[in-house]
Amino acid sequence: MSDDPKTNGTSPEDPFAGFTIDFGGAPSEPSSGGSAAPISFAPLAAAAPSAPVARPAAGGPDDRSAEERDPTRTNVMIIGSGPAGLTAAIYAARANLEPIVLAGAVPGGQLMITSDVENYPGFPDGILGPELMAKFREQAERFGTRVVDVDVDRVDLSERPFRIWARGIEYRADSVIVATGASALWLGLESETRLRGRGVSACATCDGFFFRDKEIAVVGGGDTALEEATYLTRFATKVHLLHRRESFRASKIMVDRAVDNPKIEIHTNTAVEEVLGDAKVQGLRLRDTGTDEVRDVAMEGLFVAIGYRPNTEVFRDWLEVDDKGYLVVRDETGSRIDGVFIAGDVHDHRYRQAVTAAADGCKAAIDAERWLESQGITEASTATAW
Ligand code: NAP
Repeated sequence: MSDDPKTNGTSPEDPFAGFTIDFGGAPSEPSSGGSAAPISFAPLAAAAPSAPVARPAAGGPDDRSAEERDPTRTNVMIIGSGPAGLTAAIYAARANLEPIVLAGAVPGGQLMITSDVENYPGFPDGILGPELMAKFREQAERFGTRVVDVDVDRVDLSERPFRIWARGIEYRADSVIVATGASALWLGLESETRLRGRGVSACATCDGFFFRDKEIAVVGGGDTALEEATYLTRFATKVHLLHRRESFRASKIMVDRAVDNPKIEIHTNTAVEEVLGDAKVQGLRLRDTGTDEVRDVAMEGLFVAIGYRPNTEVFRDWLEVDDKGYLVVRDETGSRIDGVFIAGDVHDHRYRQAVTAAADGCKAAIDAERWLESQGITEASTATAW
């Protein structure tokens, strides 16, 4: 089993059977022995920026040589490669801004660990999350976006050009779009950490295959938990949905779907106190949150689906955060620093949808472009590129 959201099971029923998303620069540990044909993108350097790409942008073909484009210097640095970051890249690239995307060591954002996406417009039959992100990336690269699969270690936003460090390389940017998204939360139990990858997972899409014919549990009461529980019934004999309260945060349609599923058993007012087992998950210690009664039950797996934490660590010294740790935006996509823009789930704990993140990325790129023009850094004519 793997926590790596880029790799997936390859059973005939597995929606990812037959392909692995391979971004070419990210470290990858296959989670199963399946032989999968990778969907490959243009080769990317893991530790150093990739070679410049010829750019069929709005202003005409880019005929500059590789030497003329500094791979560490850009008008717009986009940090993050989910729907917000890559949509910002598409817009910025088409406006001749030559964006660099620092995509993260595990690129693609949360859709990389989502199975069927049925609510993204333009895909009436639905699309797999990783496949959708592959399309986003392909589109951004088509217009000359340079994508580097590295995590950002540090930023200095005190003066322009802004400075960003990733794997020992210093990048400089006239503007920055922060689109780092949010990551899955864990319960915080020692036993949960110890048994992660040994029956404990936060990614049903990645690891569901390994629970074929097993009895497992999902903890959480939001849409993610309900969605994962439903998905896991493809593999498990029984899925126990454990929620600490009586009422659900999840949308009614998701709850109804779970209630109607004969393979799902819902346990409200139930908290996970401990994950039991030495080398692998063998059971759970559950507490009734109403009576405090504790009981141990046999279980072969636990999926944790209790929400997300915004990825703001490297920006905390520079940008404003709210009481939940999300970045605070000003005037749609702005921040308290001129030239630094914010897009997607890193600030949005209300909508958190791929389509709203994408829209945010679009807005941030337009705002960055207009700001660059206002500073005389780029020419006003690029606005026609939208
Ligand atoms: P969420 O809505 O914040 O729900 C988190 C759930 O986990 C809550 O029920 C919460 O319990 C529970 N929880 C939190 N901490 C816990 C802990 N320490 N122990 C036990 N339970 C804990 O998060 P989400 O489900 O990940 O959804 C996030 C957003 O994405 C939502 O806006 C959702 O609508 C959206 N989403 C949409 C789809 C879809 O449309 N297909 C799919 C997935 C997610 P309490 O209720 O008691 O606080």
